[in-house]
Amino acid sequence: MSLLPRGIRDTLDLEAHLMDSINDILQRVFRLPEFRPHQREIIQDIVAGNDVVCVMPTGAGKSLCFQLPALMLGGLTVVVSPLISLMADQVRQLGRLNVPVLFMNSSQSHQEQREVFSGLKRGFAGLLYVAPERFSAASFQRILPELKPRLFVVDEAHCLSFWGHDFRPEYMRLAEVREQLGSPVTMALTATATPNVRDDIVIMLKLRSPKLHVTGFDRPNLTYACRRMDTEAEKDAALLHGLSRQPGSGIVYCSTRRLVEQLAALFAERLPGRTVRAYHAGMDAEARKASQEDFMANPGAVVVATNAFGMGINKADIRFVVHYNIPASLEAYYQEAGRAGRDGRPAQCILYCSPRDRFTQEFFIDKIGENNTALSAAQVETLQAHARRKLDQVFNYAYRSRCRRRAILDYFGDRTAVTQCVCDVCRGQVRMSKPLEADAVPSQRRSGNRKAPRMESRELDHSGLDRFERLKKLRLKLAQAQDVPAFCVAHDSVLQAIAHAAPADMVALSEIKGIGPAKLDKYGAAFLKAVKDK
Ligand code: ADP
Repeated sequence: MSLLPRGIRDTLDLEAHLMDSINDILQRVFRLPEFRPHQREIIQDIVAGNDVVCVMPTGAGKSLCFQLPALMLGGLTVVVSPLISLMADQVRQLGRLNVPVLFMNSSQSHQEQREVFSGLKRGFAGLLYVAPERFSAASFQRILPELKPRLFVVDEAHCLSFWGHDFRPEYMRLAEVREQLGSPVTMALTATATPNVRDDIVIMLKLRSPKLHVTGFDRPNLTYACRRMDTEAEKDAALLHGLSRQPGSGIVYCSTRRLVEQLAALFAERLPGRTVRAYHAGMDAEARKASQEDFMANPGAVVVATNAFGMGINKADIRFVVHYNIPASLEAYYQEAGRAGRDGRPAQCILYCSPRDRFTQEFFIDKIGENNTALSAAQVETLQAHARRKLDQVFNYAYRSRCRRRAILDYFGDRTAVTQCVCDVCRGQVRMSKPLEADAVPSQRRSGNRKAPRMESRELDHSGLDRFERLKKLRLKLAQAQDVPAFCVAHDSVLQAIAHAAPADMVALSEIKGIGPAKLDKYGAAFLKAVKDK
């Protein structure tokens, strides 16, 4: 060491000293024995004065990545957090650890708010948690330039992006707030940011060459698999067979409430002795609570649910999550499937998919904006187009023969190397035309007496399907010829309605919702031809 030039020696000493203090604060203040993967690197980046974008899944330990530097940097750290309950949790936890902490949100009385203000004016050093809408209060705006925080933290940063699943207008002002605060070192955190969303975060907050940490999405104990099936009878048979071989507890996600109830009834009948419960948002609060408690308490219990089930479910030993229908996006899939195997032991995540799952999702996409008058027609169209892209991505995941783990990591931008993968593709088990389990099921058990679950809205038969495909091809041609996006010619929902109604003439076509006089004039003849063509 002594042979090294003095400058380098000083740097090394400084780094060693920094590491000592980081470890010291971890153990002394946070009472944790060691860092989880990536936490140390993120903390070092912040302490070195870099802006940071951190994308890690829920539960990975993102909070420590700003709480610890807040103490190292000294002075004030401002943390923007949109959820009052999460804010309250963190404030309570930090209070227990004797870390100086204040918060500002709508749950406080005027008197409490005044106390926070006077604390800040006296030069409070510690963490200040703020709900984003507080920044619009004139009284708070006035003191922003005096605060001079050392660190500015934006939690749930995907709310900044129009492309995120939870865009919040009050986040739009944060770039301005950051400037009013003197553009301190800034950290943006989120659990679900695709590359588009991440770019938005960097641009909207005006971050300076931020260090990007996208990690923690790999779950090697989960076995991902996809099964392509044409009918619901096939799905039922495969599921019943799979359940009879899997004694552990698990979740079966369906896209509609009706399916949830039908499947729960089917399983209860065919799997005597096993706890099977339904769960969806249409059930009353007490019934939902009972389902959840039974699922938590009984070994081997199965819950059949819509995506309303899962938030706050803290069951570590879920051995499987089956998606009976394709979900709306790969984020949604990852989050729901990721409820399996929290104990680190092997668990299965199986996605059943059929082409008609697309229609259910497109039905939901059509509803985007229905109850939101604040959105303009153009914004609704943009959101719908975005939702369709997400749907395409999850279909790609399901229908391509590509390592599932790699596909998920790539989607989130996590570069972690995949080793010893046991997904269906890596094990060479992908047979796209037939479901694996269904092969082993005697045919009389496949459909039972149950009526196939119907979609909430409408059903299309296969020749409907063919028409829809023809109409989509035509739409692409028309859009390309006019150099406009495809949805300007017609939405998928309109094409579906045409495919379903199979209009024979212009009058019948004009009765379809979404076909106004202009569209009829421009595309009517071509649509009718595509309907008739075989
Ligand atoms: P996230 O914000 O990523 O969802 P949290 O910051 O809330 O996750 O952390 C999840 C849990 O992990 C918390 O209970 C936290 O105390 C714990 N945790 C964080 N870092 C560590 C660590 N290095 N060692 C042990 N537990 C940790």
